[in-house]
Amino acid sequence: MNALPMPNPSVYDELLRKFRGQYGRAPDVVAYAPGRIEVLGNHTDYNEGFVLSAAIDCGTFFAAATSAGGECRLMAGDLMHEVAFPVRAPVAAPEHGWSNYVKGVLAGLNEAAPGGLKGGFDALFLGNIPLGSGLSSSAALEMSAGLALARLYGLALEPVALARIGQAAEHRFAGVKCGLLDQISSLYGRAGKLVETDFRTLTVKTVPLGTDVCFLMCNTHARHALVDGEYNRRRQDCEAAAAYFARVLPGPVKALRDVTWADWQAHQGGLGGSAARRAAHPIGENARVLAGARLLAACDLSGFGRLMFESHESSRVYFENSCPELDAVVAAAARTPGVLGARLSGGGFGGSVVVLLHPRDAADVAAVLAREYALLFGRPCETRVIQPSDGARVIADAGTTR
Ligand code: ADP
Ligand code: MG
Repeated sequence: MNALPMPNPSVYDELLRKFRGQYGRAPDVVAYAPGRIEVLGNHTDYNEGFVLSAAIDCGTFFAAATSAGGECRLMAGDLMHEVAFPVRAPVAAPEHGWSNYVKGVLAGLNEAAPGGLKGGFDALFLGNIPLGSGLSSSAALEMSAGLALARLYGLALEPVALARIGQAAEHRFAGVKCGLLDQISSLYGRAGKLVETDFRTLTVKTVPLGTDVCFLMCNTHARHALVDGEYNRRRQDCEAAAAYFARVLPGPVKALRDVTWADWQAHQGGLGGSAARRAAHPIGENARVLAGARLLAACDLSGFGRLMFESHESSRVYFENSCPELDAVVAAAARTPGVLGARLSGGGFGGSVVVLLHPRDAADVAAVLAREYALLFGRPCETRVIQPSDGARVIADAGTTR
């Protein structure tokens, strides 16, 4: 069905076993979607800018089968919790937060299907992405659910349409005003490559990274209060800054994507203190992504790594979406031999640092970073080597569509 090798086969086997145990039959369709790392381009997606990201080698499987009647049963395979809801009117349930991502996708599929979806399903999902650690388990859940359910209901959807359905699920069912980065990275990832996305035109390219390089993710497990509120506030700050630059610049400004660093320097005084600092971050990040893609094309990994350090500094000073735990890991990485670059990855305010390095250095660097983190915070940060991997796809299909 798919020429690519089976990702995470032991998770897949467990998913099939649990599905059979729960529903007494095999699924009609199974889809897989990976998590993602953001490599360069922080908070640029919703500013219509550029991001370099990668799909990772852990992900989520979503298995589904048609059922009699219009009711849907959905089980989280880790928790072994099940919820039921009508196919045509899924409603967010605060007590089962995990179900809202799938219900949100279902709501989007209902809107995409002429006349709405007909008939219910039984579904179970299982993955190996650590939740809430900046690797985007939520988008992996949305994209695996979206691919599996679209196939089950015979709906042909372009990847960008599916990504938008996942984004709308986050906005409307999870209350997070995210951009499209997580979903696009999960869908378009390729082994050994970065995904370069222009979020204005939604044009996606892949950029070869080479085989002698990988990433080390360092999960601090820090999650500072009101993360989602801070994220949404940064978004509003960026929109307000774009409106200011639209007033003072001669050319059209629809988003911070249209503002250059020279524009920022010339006019930031009129915007004032914290608003000017917020705007500086996505403006600088856009320039760094374009420069970074050129450096990768020239095989200049050290130059690319320096841009990663600059990106983190911009987060720390301008956007203030870093925190002491992330800063400590990046500072330790900068002192550690073998590290090419390091920065926070994802929304910030906690979560993970992404480190660029050669695979031969990964074990030593991981040990140093975990030890230095433990000295400061009393427990090691959790490290994991990440290889850029293939993106979301349908894994198995018994041909049962309606
Ligand atoms: P991230 O996307 O960075 O992992 P989020 O807070 O956006 O963090 O999403 C994490 C949430 O997604 C979890 O709290 C849970 O509700 C849901 N989720 C994602 N994958 C799974 C899974 N395999 N099992 C249960 N819940 C999941
Ligand atoms: Mg998420």
